[in-house]
Formats: sequence, structure tokens, C-alpha cells
Amino acid sequence: MAYGSELENLDEDGYTQLQFSSRGITKIPVSSEKGVLSSSCPPNWIAHENSCYLFGTSLNSWNGSKRQCSQLDSYLLKIDSSKELEFIVKQVSSQPVKSFWIGLSRPQAEGPWLWEDGSKFSPNLFEIRSTVTQENSSHNCVWIHVPIIYDQLCSVPSYGICEKKLSI
Ligand code: CA
Repeated sequence: MAYGSELENLDEDGYTQLQFSSRGITKIPVSSEKGVLSSSCPPNWIAHENSCYLFGTSLNSWNGSKRQCSQLDSYLLKIDSSKELEFIVKQVSSQPVKSFWIGLSRPQAEGPWLWEDGSKFSPNLFEIRSTVTQENSSHNCVWIHVPIIYDQLCSVPSYGICEKKLSI
């Protein structure tokens, strides 16, 4: 019934016509959101520099957290600079009992630490503290438990930090 002819929708002061056309306009952003870099962060995400960050509220393995981020068009946190590290430490300091997965892992215990995009971890940025207590256990994923960054068993349930880039 909303899609009657233009003549039927036009009343004297044009109100009905106005409603009709504004309904059409609101549809446009919804369909163009997918896969496009946004210039502002989605609700509940925190903006910092040129990224948006989401601090997870549910427990998951490292792989599960990675999947959750990718479902939200993002990736597990990649710490690119000391400035970014400082921001993250500040954020997680408000939740000191929680550990948060970041996007660092290694294929095997001897392998190099890699970010999700395949780039190598630079030890100049921070230290990954080893928590391996038994020789055979492989702690190949990394989490931050403020203010320290540890290696950990990838299957341990924890929260995750997702990051997505903003368009500039
Ligand atoms: Ca980053």
C-alpha cells in the first residue's frame, strides 16, 4: 500500500511524498556498507589513529577469536608501533583480570612469530614472555595480560581484540 501511484501519495502539503522518498534514501547505506572501508568506527568499536578496535566480551580459542574478527570484517590486533601498544595497554588496564588474544602466532615452536598478514614480529616492539613449563607443550599463540605479553596454548579460551583499518 505504500507503493501507490505518485498522485495518490501526494497530499496538499507534500508530507506523504516526503516520507516515501526518505524511505528510499535510508536503504542506500545498508547495501553499500559491505566490504567498503568506512571513515568512522561501527558502534561499540573504539577509534584510535587510523584503526577501530573491538575488545571481545566472549571467551574463545585463538582460532575462534580470529574467526570472530574476520566475521566482523576485521583481523586480530596487529601492534604496529609503540604508540599503538601504549593505547592497547591503556585500554586493557581497565580489565586487569582478562587476557586478550592478539594476532600473533607461530606455525611451530621453533618457527618465527607471525602477524595475521604474514609479516614477521619485530622484537624491538615488545617482548613475548615464554610461559612454557613442560617440554612438550607448545605455546604458539600470543595474548596480552596487562602489562605483559605472553605466549600461550592456542586452545585456551580467552577474549580477543579485533582491529580494522579506517579509510583515510
Ligand atoms: Ca595495528
